[in-house]
Amino acid sequence: MVMGYIEPAPIKDKENPLESMMSRFDAAAKLVGISDEMYDILKVPARQVIVGLPVTMDNGSIRVFEGYRVIHSNILGPAKGGIRLDPAVHLDEVRALAAWMTWKCAVVDIPYGGAKGGIACNPREMSAGEIERLIRAYTVQMLDVFGPDRDIPAPDMGTGPREMAWIVDEYSKAKGMTVNGVVTGKPLVLGGSLGRTEATGRGVTVAALSAMDKLRMNPYRASAAIQGFGNVGSYAAELLHERGVTVQAVSDISGGYYNERGIDIVAAMNYRNTNKGTLEGFTGAEKISNEDLLALPVDVLVPAAKEDVITDENAHTIQARMIVEGANGPTSASADEIINSKGIMVVPDILANAGGVTVSYFEWVQNRIGYKWTLDRINRRADRAMKDAFDRVFETSQKYKVPMRLAAYMVAIEKVASTYKFRGGY
Ligand code: GLU
Repeated sequence: MVMGYIEPAPIKDKENPLESMMSRFDAAAKLVGISDEMYDILKVPARQVIVGLPVTMDNGSIRVFEGYRVIHSNILGPAKGGIRLDPAVHLDEVRALAAWMTWKCAVVDIPYGGAKGGIACNPREMSAGEIERLIRAYTVQMLDVFGPDRDIPAPDMGTGPREMAWIVDEYSKAKGMTVNGVVTGKPLVLGGSLGRTEATGRGVTVAALSAMDKLRMNPYRASAAIQGFGNVGSYAAELLHERGVTVQAVSDISGGYYNERGIDIVAAMNYRNTNKGTLEGFTGAEKISNEDLLALPVDVLVPAAKEDVITDENAHTIQARMIVEGANGPTSASADEIINSKGIMVVPDILANAGGVTVSYFEWVQNRIGYKWTLDRINRRADRAMKDAFDRVFETSQKYKVPMRLAAYMVAIEKVASTYKFRGGY
């Protein structure tokens, strides 16, 4: 028997998302004027769990993976947040992502705290059976963490409805009854919600259109570049295109694709779906690098891949008039000043990508009442929630004369801190 251990990725200081999250939190906390005690309460995660997960691989060997679940806060309600499968997963990243979920749920005004889970592994190199055993092992280790009233996972990078179904199954077996409200982002037949798959990309579109409106930009005359063509980027591209925006560039792990007259997004999505999930070999566009994509002279730049892609090293190359953050933490704190000094409007992650967790909330509500809403009702309510959140953040940014990112943190911190005051502590 061969034992293999997946060493968690080393943390590069400069790209540590926890530091990026904390520096924005610090700045906003000062402006909101919370007490030192409240600062400490909101800073430290409520619970952090690290587990070792031995999994039998298809060749009979056993590999041990490291899994994490961090509950940053449950002040507003049960903790909520996705599970990420990626070789770069490490505790600091999960901590940052968990805190972002707290701020995100607060900004969009849904009754959840924030959490995140992750397993350091490369799902692209694993079979479906290996991933299934890994997810089931993780669920068993998290039986006393997860729960529809405690902590509700959802998909994130490397996971989707398939993984959520395995979690429902494993959790339900342990509880002796079907508990489909334990996760969101499930397949429809298992109590998933209509509209959940497209929800994040749809919310990004609502956020982008709201920002264009403020800048008096006509979507029919606007161009966009979208980094990342997964669940967030591809739907954002499709919906922006539908609303008249010329999507000039998209990218995924195979590189960037540029067409000045606009990329045929539906063709690109179909191509990806029949090409092992990547755009590799896609014609109808010129090949560019991911770095080139960020520097294109477009109106709207949507980083929808992963964190820390815009840093102090490349921020000066950005020519877009606005950045709408589809990913969590795509801009490192070191780039904020450069971007602000260039007058680029940033619709921050905790606002721009909150459409996903909003429809997750609707899924959970439907599970609790045992009733299915129509797609029309879901989209209408989600769009309104995004628009209201955008307006709240925009007003705060005008009132305090701060960038949208800081304003979003201020709205969130204010909400969580005032709720804590009502609940009280020990
Ligand atoms: N992983 C998604 C996010 O980062 C969705 C979380 C959820 O639906 O709970 O927002």
